[in-house]
Amino acid sequence: MKEIHHWVDGKEYKGTSGRFSDVYNPATGEVQAKVSLATKAELDAAVESAARAQVKWGATNPQRRARVMMEFVRLINRDMDKLAEALSSEHGKTFPDAKGDVQRGLEVIEFCIGAPHLLKGEYTDNAGTGIDMYSMRQPLGVVAGITPFNFPAMIPLWKMGPALAAGNAMILKPSERDPSVPLMLAQLLQEAGLPDGVLQVINGDKDSVDAILDSEIIQAVGFVGSTPIAQYIYERAAATGKRAQCFGGAKNHMIIMPDADMDQAADALVGAGFGAAGERCMAISVAVPVGEKTADALIEKLIPRIEKLKVGPYTAGDDVDYGPVVTKAAKENILRLVQTGIDQGAELVVDGRDFSLQGYEEGFFVGPHLFDRVTPDMDIYKTEIFGPVLSTVRAGSYEEAIKLAMDHEYGNGTAIFTRDGDAARDFASRINIGMVGVNVPIPVPLAYHTFGGWKKSGFGDLNQHGPDAFRFYTRTKTVTARWPSGIKDGGEFNFKAMD
Ligand code: NAD
Repeated sequence: MKEIHHWVDGKEYKGTSGRFSDVYNPATGEVQAKVSLATKAELDAAVESAARAQVKWGATNPQRRARVMMEFVRLINRDMDKLAEALSSEHGKTFPDAKGDVQRGLEVIEFCIGAPHLLKGEYTDNAGTGIDMYSMRQPLGVVAGITPFNFPAMIPLWKMGPALAAGNAMILKPSERDPSVPLMLAQLLQEAGLPDGVLQVINGDKDSVDAILDSEIIQAVGFVGSTPIAQYIYERAAATGKRAQCFGGAKNHMIIMPDADMDQAADALVGAGFGAAGERCMAISVAVPVGEKTADALIEKLIPRIEKLKVGPYTAGDDVDYGPVVTKAAKENILRLVQTGIDQGAELVVDGRDFSLQGYEEGFFVGPHLFDRVTPDMDIYKTEIFGPVLSTVRAGSYEEAIKLAMDHEYGNGTAIFTRDGDAARDFASRINIGMVGVNVPIPVPLAYHTFGGWKKSGFGDLNQHGPDAFRFYTRTKTVTARWPSGIKDGGEFNFKAMD
């Protein structure tokens, strides 16, 4: 059985805990590897070593750190297929989707090449007579990233790029369900010139997370995962005075106005609802058609599109629409929630419960499901299902539709489909949700903007990537300086490179 370990001080480190977690091939249901789960002592040792390595890295000039990122970009592109293959085999998503996962992380590393510009401080000349005032952005020291299973390349890259480019050392604790890609990324960073110890990848479960939270050395935690854990981490990180940004679950609504292009809306819903088997925090899981006629037309267009979705392993070719879900437990949970939908009176118009794939009977595949006439009191409406299940809630008016999305406890993403600029503008302005699409179903902001949900989808005050990430991973020091008058000669007049 293949064993997956940690990455500490620039080399693979075999854990000593004797505790392992199974890593599945979700398409076949087989355990393909075992990943070590670190002890608190191992985590603490990696943190101490990272703190030593950070001193030199933090003092390295930003342009040199940016050059490591530049080379990292080249190496990720070189190994794109290798990374995507490893990702698909542990996560289950299709090969093109796995490449997208790597690509959306890579774009944040490209953004981080601009670190020297992003780290520039502010300066006021002559704030008082003979007094200058300036502020600088300095790294925090050692920071941590704790990431979920559903984007095993993108989200670790969102964490490590800005943290390292800003001069920090990072402890990355990736999901134990698909740990290989983060380790491959750590190796590429070493090849790109990152000094040993500056990025430590520690595999583990709650024990390692708690050790991170209790560490007196770690200064900040960036978390992405489910809402209960996000809230737990946010609260516990605060107890030791850490900065925390914790992003949680979602229930993203798409409002379909009567004037929307129904074919476009149906295509968008199928891609956003069922892509990656619905295991995306920006997946659309609730369709809200406005008016009965809109709802009838939408359902009529959705059914044939959903029925012809091709579900299969990533090895079956690029025309597979989505793959298995991540574990057997995830599959069972999705099917349990589908049953509650039926029991609580929703209309199951596309039923994927009996889906089975010849030759992959033990794989974690879930057929696509479409519910109509879902109401806000039902469990399938309240809960994040994180599977290929789309719920339709019929709204009588635009006001009813926007209220639904606003009253939901999650606030990650949302979209409106309409041809009416006034409705779109009103929606974007009033909605209490962090990321909004206008005729765009999955409005994931690009690397140079920021990503973050509101309400129970995000705890903390700064978003991921973009300029916010550099604010999160640095602290501001402001200097007020007065120099007594003195000798004004002896300056350096030769033009030379910075050291
Ligand atoms: P998860 O919360 O189970 O795990 C996330 C991380 O927390 C993992 O590293 C895991 O090891 C750790 N963890 C799990 N249980 C823990 C515990 N009891 N104590 C401490 N740490 C624990 O999430 P997941 O299943 O890996 O990912 C799916 C979830 O992530 C979904 O809810 C999805 O919406 C969310 N997500 C959110 C965003 C976002 O930006 N808002 C992005 C991607 C995924």
